[in-house]
Amino acid sequence: MRIGVLAIQGDYGKHRQMLESLGQEAPLVRTERELKECDGLIVPGGESTTLTILLQKHGLWDPLHAFGRRKAIFGTCAGLILLSREVRDHKLASLNLIDLEVERNAYGRQIDSFIDRVRLDLRGTPGSMEGVFIRAPRIIACGMEVTPLGWHHEEVVAAENEHIMVSTFHPELTESTLLHRHFLTKVSRFLHD
Ligand code: GLN
Repeated sequence: MRIGVLAIQGDYGKHRQMLESLGQEAPLVRTERELKECDGLIVPGGESTTLTILLQKHGLWDPLHAFGRRKAIFGTCAGLILLSREVRDHKLASLNLIDLEVERNAYGRQIDSFIDRVRLDLRGTPGSMEGVFIRAPRIIACGMEVTPLGWHHEEVVAAENEHIMVSTFHPELTESTLLHRHFLTKVSRFLHD
């Protein structure tokens, strides 16, 4: 299985390391051709405005949208912002691949970064992990076909629909591979489509 890591901007190196530690080939993706060779894709955290502009400039916006309708994408933090249906008070387009309404930088300035426990329920498998929240977005509303996978207190901080998986925090910055392993299972479901 080839899980690409979008390497236009942001925290792609750590995602790659984590995938490789799980025995996966994890090519960096910067072009449409590289994207086409992948079975799944991680869109890392970074800065969503910059990422959006660069993806459009590199001609990757439409290919990414088409990819997410057939194969699995895991978006973390800024990646989640890009994949969501609606971003509150944001003028740039989003890919609208998962029915979430989100708010950017939603934890305020003083506490824009923190680490705290996240409770998981990965489709019947309970667990928990450390969540690293860096100028993180908040999920304001989840659509009917979205399944929550993780909570910080009562708030949903990780979720998925058929093809797309997201977290508001950075799972690649911890020791826990739970979310990445869940994503590998998701990718494998669309291998022969
Ligand atoms: N605040 C950033 C944004 O709006 C996201 C931060 C992150 O990806 N860690 O794009």
